[in-house]
Amino acid sequence: MEKEKCRQVKGIELVASENYVCRAVLDALGSHLTNKYSEGMPGARYYGGNQYIDQIERLCWERALAAFNLDPESWGVNVQPYSCTSANFAVYTGLLLPSDRIMGLDSPSGGHVSHGFYTPSGKKISGASIFFESLSYKVNPHTGYIDYEKLEERAMDFHPKILICGGSSYPREWDYARFRQIADKCGAVLMCDMAHISGLVAAKECSSPFEYCDIVTSTTHKSLRGPRGGIIFFRKGKKMRKHGFSVCQTDESEQYDFEDRINFAVFPSLQGGPHNNHIAALAIALKQVATSEYKAYIQQVKKNAQALASALMRRKCRLVTGGTDNHLILWDLRTFGLTGKSFEKVCEACHISLNKTPIFGENGAICPGGVRIGTPAMTTRGCLEGDFETIAEFLLRAAHIASTLQKEHGKYQKEFLKGLQHSRDIAELRNHVETFSSQFAMPGSDLGLFNEL
Ligand SMILES: *Cc1c(COP(=O)(O)O)cnc(C)c1O
Repeated sequence: MEKEKCRQVKGIELVASENYVCRAVLDALGSHLTNKYSEGMPGARYYGGNQYIDQIERLCWERALAAFNLDPESWGVNVQPYSCTSANFAVYTGLLLPSDRIMGLDSPSGGHVSHGFYTPSGKKISGASIFFESLSYKVNPHTGYIDYEKLEERAMDFHPKILICGGSSYPREWDYARFRQIADKCGAVLMCDMAHISGLVAAKECSSPFEYCDIVTSTTHKSLRGPRGGIIFFRKGKKMRKHGFSVCQTDESEQYDFEDRINFAVFPSLQGGPHNNHIAALAIALKQVATSEYKAYIQQVKKNAQALASALMRRKCRLVTGGTDNHLILWDLRTFGLTGKSFEKVCEACHISLNKTPIFGENGAICPGGVRIGTPAMTTRGCLEGDFETIAEFLLRAAHIASTLQKEHGKYQKEFLKGLQHSRDIAELRNHVETFSSQFAMPGSDLGLFNEL
């Protein structure tokens, strides 16, 4: 554990899905609340002794709705999912029958596996593709933007019962109005998985899926900066007519029926007792999300992503879609003759964490030629635009080192990795990276001087 703490403090963390939580969240996670069983919902538990646990979960509901500016009359929330993958599966389980159809963004296009991924050879990866039928939509290989025309065509053919927007590696805004239109046209429930951008949504720094979607799921540990877990928001009460079309056409009744179905799917269908330590930690994070400090944090996350994008592009690097609207960029490394995998390895040796990502080629074929880079974690540590200029220099240096290593040792992973171990250039860059990172405080750590909320 000490070694991992040291790694976190000394390294540059650019994995777009990661963040650092504050001391209060860590304390709640490590608290006595982990001792209590509380299957069921507040006021309707299967065990006694839950009077305080009930208060905590209700407070968490209130804060979750407040953080996203939702009216408790028309939106409900379930804060029990252990992860966003299980939150998504709970939505499918609650709303669908086995073999019913779902449609989400393809994983190589930047979608998440839990939206029904299976490989081109037909191997079913996601539970959602094993128990339900899924067909994906994709980004346009030339532009990197979602191809809404083709999506509409496919949706009208496939008639999914749930249409899913949201993804893990998409640097641009989502056109929720367009998704709504398509969902209505093919009679689907519209679900958004806002896992990556929920912090931006809460801070009103991107367009909101709540305006158009019936169900919204999220992780709680990415840009939202809470404990690791999942959350589900669902419309409830009387169905609304909005934007000239009905919000949900799949059911004749006047009332939404998501609440009971989703709550029942989470427990007892898919989970047992909720993790109360996690729910308390989430309530703490959600209170912070509603502050002006958090809004300033998210604004800085976006500014830093812009600074990093323009620093790389000024150095002739190619970014998918030519930039970003949010907290992440996709860097196409083929201009360096590199794969995402070898670059990721070099960065890791230099104590920079990021992850490889598929990139579409000109001919539409997918190759693992890029990396995904996000700014939430280093922004939490206090990095500003100028620091991301420095980070861009480190990244470019790493790309040049990787190219040289590849020339000297070839592309074969084994030889390349051997060359990497003995590289003086890598040792030198790692020193710079560690000196740079050590200047920044680490939230929740005794080693840091971070001024916590
Ligand atoms: C990260 C992510 C998930 C998975 O979250 P877990 O809590 O790790 O299960 C689901 N959906 C999207 C869009 C994600 O980016």
